[in-house]
Amino acid sequence: MPFDLITIPCLSDNYAYLLRDHASGEVAVIDVPEAGPIAAELTARGWTLSQVWITHHHWDHVDGLADLLADHPARVVGAAADADRLPKLDLAVSEGDTVTLGALTAVIFDVSGHTINHIAYYVPQANAVFTADSLMALGCGRLFEGTPDQMWSSMQKLMALPADTTICSGHEYTASNAKFALTVDPDNTALISRSNDITAAREKGVPTVPSLLSTELETNPFLRAADPGIRATLGMPNATDAEVFAEIRKRKDHF
Ligand code: ZN
Ligand code: FE
Repeated sequence: MPFDLITIPCLSDNYAYLLRDHASGEVAVIDVPEAGPIAAELTARGWTLSQVWITHHHWDHVDGLADLLADHPARVVGAAADADRLPKLDLAVSEGDTVTLGALTAVIFDVSGHTINHIAYYVPQANAVFTADSLMALGCGRLFEGTPDQMWSSMQKLMALPADTTICSGHEYTASNAKFALTVDPDNTALISRSNDITAAREKGVPTVPSLLSTELETNPFLRAADPGIRATLGMPNATDAEVFAEIRKRKDHF
């Protein structure tokens, strides 16, 4: 593999990621919930930080940035449309723009819904997408700012990526997501088996992220609005996919 991808637990249930391009030695961190664990990982590996890729403005994704930059100066990338509420950006990007990390290139997706102007970074050479609080393992982010239609359109962009794409999401919410998923998709044997795996992983303290898009497509109810079984459970056989998605999101909010 021409890259390294490291998952770093931060705070109580956040994740940051390090992506390193072998050819150049350049390293990006995706989101900075807190500086300590990220700095420790860089030091332990002898890596020099080059870039910070911010997904959205929430404090639990940016609060460690100033502390991290003090000892690890790096170029900060984030959404142009959110520049007024993000930390100071060195590179402001919009959907379709690219960000270069040595031989790797990230393509920017607008995945609004959790917040407006939440972005994802898709790196085809690494088969990975950094989704933070948009598409999550067995879930999707709560709709603090966007509408269900906006989040559904964001989900569809991510669903169209290659099935072997690694989904690098922002939180360890998977066990509670699994409990909810089973209420709307109770007969899904792939979901039942994944749910058991998640319980076992969490008992050992092992992260449940990243996950594969193929796995999410089989088990994540927020990507399965078209599924006849879920539609039957919800009593929505003739609704649109967007309406089914909205109903699943609403039920999760009250779960
Ligand atoms: Zn958030
Ligand atoms: Fe978050």
